[in-house]
Amino acid sequence: MTPPHGSRLALSGGSPVHGPDWPAWPQAPESTLRMLREAATSGRWAVSGAYTGTPSFERRFAQAFAAYHGVRYAVPTCNGSAALTIAMETLGVGPGCEVIVPGLTWVACASSVSALGGVPVLADIDPGTLSISCAAAKALITDRTTAILVVHAYCSAADVDAFVQLSESTGIPLIEDCSQAHGTEWNGQKVGTFGAIGLFSLQQTKVLTSGEGGITITSSPDLHDLLQQYRANGRRYLRNPVPGQLEIEEAGTVEGHNYSMSEFSAAVALSQLEFLDEQNAHRGRNAALLADLLAGIEGVSTPSAPAAVTQRTYYDHVIRFDETILGPFSIQRVVEAMTAELNLYFETLDAPLNANPLYVPLKSPRLPRTEEARRLFDPRRFDLPEATAAYRTCFAFLHQALLGTADDMAAIAEAVAKVAVHIDQLRAPLSGGLR
Ligand SMILES: *Cc1c(COP(=O)(O)O)cnc(C)c1O
Repeated sequence: MTPPHGSRLALSGGSPVHGPDWPAWPQAPESTLRMLREAATSGRWAVSGAYTGTPSFERRFAQAFAAYHGVRYAVPTCNGSAALTIAMETLGVGPGCEVIVPGLTWVACASSVSALGGVPVLADIDPGTLSISCAAAKALITDRTTAILVVHAYCSAADVDAFVQLSESTGIPLIEDCSQAHGTEWNGQKVGTFGAIGLFSLQQTKVLTSGEGGITITSSPDLHDLLQQYRANGRRYLRNPVPGQLEIEEAGTVEGHNYSMSEFSAAVALSQLEFLDEQNAHRGRNAALLADLLAGIEGVSTPSAPAAVTQRTYYDHVIRFDETILGPFSIQRVVEAMTAELNLYFETLDAPLNANPLYVPLKSPRLPRTEEARRLFDPRRFDLPEATAAYRTCFAFLHQALLGTADDMAAIAEAVAKVAVHIDQLRAPLSGGLR
């Protein structure tokens, strides 16, 4: 049987399986434009602006996001990296501390720790879920471990029950980074609510976005107070603001930064939150369709979610080719072939943090100039075989494609099959200067 789009890969001059007409992301519905306009004309553009008598978008978004998660408090930030930083500082991370961080994740998860002088200790992943392995994390605990950063990665989740148990038995607090898992539920409860602090990026590619943005959540009044102060130069909300006065008071029980979210970002985030569940459901239906189609292709798999994941969020949809398909070909070539086949942006996973070009703490002028620091902060001292294997065999596409149609899913599956079967064509010399 000849596949509908022939057997010649688009990368070697064949016809592609899909055109460039994929769903757009980010999306700006009328409600987003309306709220942006409302923010612009409100007379208040910043947390540090005077109270106008009506709640700011920043506070409205914080309240809506906390309510969505069933927690007491939320503190928005200017981006997810800042959310990581204030979460770390709130839990006391600084020089002499260690934080256990997954070895396969975005660089900020580690660099937010090293920037504070704490040592990121890289734990390997669970090969099934691609999220941090609890057994690996447990083996790295020392008397200096100040926090464990659990990242719910790609389109699955870490083993929440195991981490909660580890935290309870050791007294080490958990931070949950849910930047790729807005809306994911573990036994019916939203992730981000199991640890001391949950945090989210709202960067443009994420499933909930304000362009740049982030947010932390907690149910502890003490942690909430510190999160507020770390994000607004030691200031926190007044209980009963009077119109015309600043809404924040100087507390200064700690030294903070200005990592506040602007009213424009908060207006966008608040308007977009309304669509999150519906879009997650749409992506979930298409991901299930795609999983069925891919299940029929020899040597192809997708990450699994633990049975306790009762609601799954698809951010970066991961597909794995086993070695029998890949042979001598690099995953980078597969990414190029898939991108050409579908006119859709494919990417590799993040490079493991023991060999990631963006995670270079030894190049930081903040690093103490001691032999010990050079050893402790050298990422190469960590062994991450599972993260490395995942990086070599997995590729991914972003979630907006999952907002498409059943035909779009059929096209993705067809392209996967085409590239898997005809991978030998990647050997041929290419026009266009592709490496
Ligand atoms: C995107 C992301 C971040 C960083 O967020 P920014 O808003 O880009 O600073 C942190 N952690 C994870 C897991 C992410 O995916």
